[in-house]
This record gives sequence, C-alpha cells and structure tokens, in this order.
Amino acid sequence: MRHGSRIITAALPVLFLAGHAGSLLLAGSAGTSASFAWLIAAPVLAGLACLYRGWKDGFEGWLPAGAAMLCWAGGMTSTMFATLFLDIVREDRLSMLLYVLYGVPLIFALASPADEKWQVRLVDAALATALGYLYYIHVGKLISQSRTPFETVDALQLMFDIENLFIAAFATIRFLVRTRQRAPFFRAMTVYAVVYMLCAGYINHYQSATAYGGWSDLLVDLPFMVLAWHAVGEPYRQGLGAAGGARAPRIVRAGGPLLIPATLLTVSVLLVSYDPIIAISGCVAASLGYGLRTMLVQLRNFEEQDELARLSHVDALTGIANRRRFDEVLAREWARRRESPEPLALLMVDIDHFKQLNDQFGHAVGDQHLRTVAAVLSGCARRDSDLVARYGGEEFAAILTGIDPQDAGMIAERMRASVEALGLPSGTGEGVVTISIGVACTQALDTEVAVFVSAADTALYDAKHSGRNRVARRSAVRLRAVDTPPVSTTGGRAA
Ligand code: GH3
Ligand code: MG
Ligand code: MG
Repeated sequence: MRHGSRIITAALPVLFLAGHAGSLLLAGSAGTSASFAWLIAAPVLAGLACLYRGWKDGFEGWLPAGAAMLCWAGGMTSTMFATLFLDIVREDRLSMLLYVLYGVPLIFALASPADEKWQVRLVDAALATALGYLYYIHVGKLISQSRTPFETVDALQLMFDIENLFIAAFATIRFLVRTRQRAPFFRAMTVYAVVYMLCAGYINHYQSATAYGGWSDLLVDLPFMVLAWHAVGEPYRQGLGAAGGARAPRIVRAGGPLLIPATLLTVSVLLVSYDPIIAISGCVAASLGYGLRTMLVQLRNFEEQDELARLSHVDALTGIANRRRFDEVLAREWARRRESPEPLALLMVDIDHFKQLNDQFGHAVGDQHLRTVAAVLSGCARRDSDLVARYGGEEFAAILTGIDPQDAGMIAERMRASVEALGLPSGTGEGVVTISIGVACTQALDTEVAVFVSAADTALYDAKHSGRNRVARRSAVRLRAVDTPPVSTTGGRAA
C-alpha cells in the first residue's frame, strides 16, 4: 500500500472517533439517539472492512470475522430499539443473545486451523455451534432465574469476561503460530481482541450503570475502528508479517485442538447451577468432540507418516526406488537367503559418457534422460520381487531374486538394448545414449554382501573398460578365491 493512501486509511478511524465525539458534544438532548448511529456504524464498518479484505485475500477467517461484526451490529441495533422505544435502560434479551453469538464465528475462525481436513473443521463448527447454544441457554437462564438485577449483571459480566478472554487468548496463540500467508489476519484479530477485551472489561465493570450517549461510547467504537484499520490499511506490512515472526513452541501448536472444547467446558461448568442437564450435555459434547477431533487428526497423521515413509524410499528425480530402499532390500534379501537359499543377481548400471551429455545439452536434458532411462530399466525387470533403484548420480542398480545367471544376463542385455533403442542423442557426435552393466550372481551362503556388491561393481568396471555399451558378468561364489574372467557383449549379444 502506498504511503499516502496508508495515511488516509489510518486517518479514517480517527476521523470516525472525532465525528462521534463531535456529535456527543453537539447533539444535546438527542445525544443518545445520535450516539447509537455511530455505535451501529462502527461494527458495520469493521464487518465491511473484513469482507473487503476477504474478497481481496481469500475469505478464510475474514468471512466469519465479518459475520461476527455484523452480528454485534445487530445486537447494538436491538439495544437501540430497546433503549429508545421500550425504555429498557441497557441491554434487552435479543441484544444479549446477539452479543454472545458474535463470539461463535470468531472462536471458529481463530480456533479451527484452515489447513485441517474438512471433517475436522466440521467437528470444530459443530462444537462452536454447541458453544453458541450453551451461551444462548446461559443468557436465558440468567435473565429469568436471577433473583436480583445485580446478580444478573454480575453473572453476565463474568460470562462476557470469559468469552472476551478466550477470544483474545485464541487470537494471540494463533498469531504466535501463524503461517506467513495468514499473518495479517491473526495480527489484526489479536490487536482487535485485546483492545476489545480491555474496552469491554472497563465498560462492563466501571460504566455498567451509565446509559448510552456518554463519552464511554467512544470506547465501544475503538476496537471496531482498530479492526477496520487493520483489515483495510494493514499497518506494519513490511514489519512483523513479512519477517514471518517468531515460531511458538510446539506445545502451543499442539494445544490448538483444545481451544474450542476448553471454551465449551468452561461455559458448561458455569451453567451447572442453572441447568445441570444442559451443563452435563455440554461437558459430554466437549469431551466427545475433543476425542473425535483428536481421532481425525491422528488418522491424518498416520496418512502423512505413511506418505513420508513412502517418500523416504523414492528417488525425487526419477520416481523409482532410491539408494536407501536399495540398501534395505538388499540386506533383507541377503538375510532371507539364510532360510531359503536361492540365487540372487545384482545389476549395476551406469550411463555412458553422461558428463558429456550434460555439458552438451545442459542439466535439464540430463535429468530428463535420467528419468527416461529409469523408466526403461524398471520396465525390463517386471517381477514383483525385482527392484530397480537409483544408486546415485547416473548409476542405477537392480536386485533380481530367484534367477539363474543366464536369465540375469538376458535381462541385463534387454536393459542395454532397450536404452540404446531409445535413440536419445548422447552429445558424443552422432551417438546415442547407452549404458554399461555389471552383473553379479551368487548362490553361495558364505559370501558377504559387500563382496557381492563389489563383484557387480567390478563387472561394471570391466564393461566400461572393454568399450562401454555392454554387459559384463562376475560370479560372487567364493569371490575372494575364484575370480571368473569377465564375459562381455557388444551390439546386442547376451552375456
Ligand atoms: P562413464 O561412461 O565413464 O560413466 O562417463 P560419465 O561421464 O558418465 O561418468 P562420470 O562419473 O565422469 O560423470 C557422471 C556425470 O553424471 C557427472 C554428473 O554431472 C552427472 N550427474 C550425476 N547426477 C546427475 C543428475 O542428477 N542430473 C544430471 N543431469 N546429471 C547428473
Ligand atoms: Mg558413474
Ligand atoms: Mg557414467
């Protein structure tokens, strides 16, 4: 936002408060009616500012906040009618209801994380609605059952204090654990909720006997102006929000699911002496809601864990198994052979002159070729027990179980021929991309796995040194003692 328009946006709330103050000074006996117009306009403007911001940045959070402001404005409209036309000194029952209901969308917006699954958000919405219902019951019981007006006022004050404190605490917690994109919303809500809590606390405790139309009305406007200013003007855009802010400890983040159930429990406890059945129902709803919510979040965690476990075994570039998976499968197959000895083959594959290809065509083309070769190699080893992995760089490895050396050589040759047949330009004159493969086979139990891998490596070395684009084979049977000479092929002859 440009500097000039920022100053104008910051000046508008001040002008609003000045206008309200001026009308209090000038209106004389009509001061109360005039003041109501400002008291209704303040939350309406805050609500419209939230909706405007939501329209610009996405409605998540801003829409419920806007609805809450309009709900509050409805409460003040009802208060105005009750005061001006029904001679009720301060709040009537409908306005009380709207003031408490105003907290429900706010609590939902602050306590229900936007990135949760819709089922979790549905539970949050249900709990927030249950909270609204309990507030509604609470207001009704307080007004109808209190023996003295003072008792009613005391109990209502306590209820409002608790609601305001919860909202301010939720906003602060979410501000601390905010994500960068949502920082403006939680910053606006934190400043608003703290100012609202302080102003409402002061008015409810020290000005509750004062009728509308006095100077304390300006304090009612204040939080709404603060919110409108934040929603439209977004002060400190280059400050806290852009920097990302401090991250809260994990315990604060993990405590998020407690927010709405804890509020529900508190309000239920307040209701015990008025309506035990409703109070117990509230406690049960809070516990069940918390349990259900925790279960849903846990399910999501399991899914994420599974996905992470899968990703930890996949090579990011080619999408085939990675080196970690290769090491695990090789160790497992090696251990399994102690119970049922069966032949095992290991193929080490290396792309020929890949450096030149990168130098000639660039790394992006090199990466694309790595993907293509990976897909071709996987297509050549199709049994469920086969594993083709990216071993590192431009090297691949395949583990083939229950296979004799001839068949292992045939599969290696099929891989070599399939890559050559792709006809991918190699960067070496007219040549195409080719691979060299070292094959090691073993049936012996007394060989070590490291010896087996080194046999395949040595075979690959042999293939490279006898001209590339070929398959070479070594046997890992008592490798240290008997080193069979390399068997090489070129131009499509199997090893
Ligand atoms: P040789 O036939 O002897 O195997 O020759 P070479 O050029 O293939 O072997 P060398 O080991 O000298 O080079 C391997 C090259 O593979 C070097 C490196 O830039 C490239 N490389 C390794 N990993 C990647 C990768 O993830 N993407 C791309 N594009 N290139 C890679
Ligand atoms: Mg290499
Ligand atoms: Mg190479």
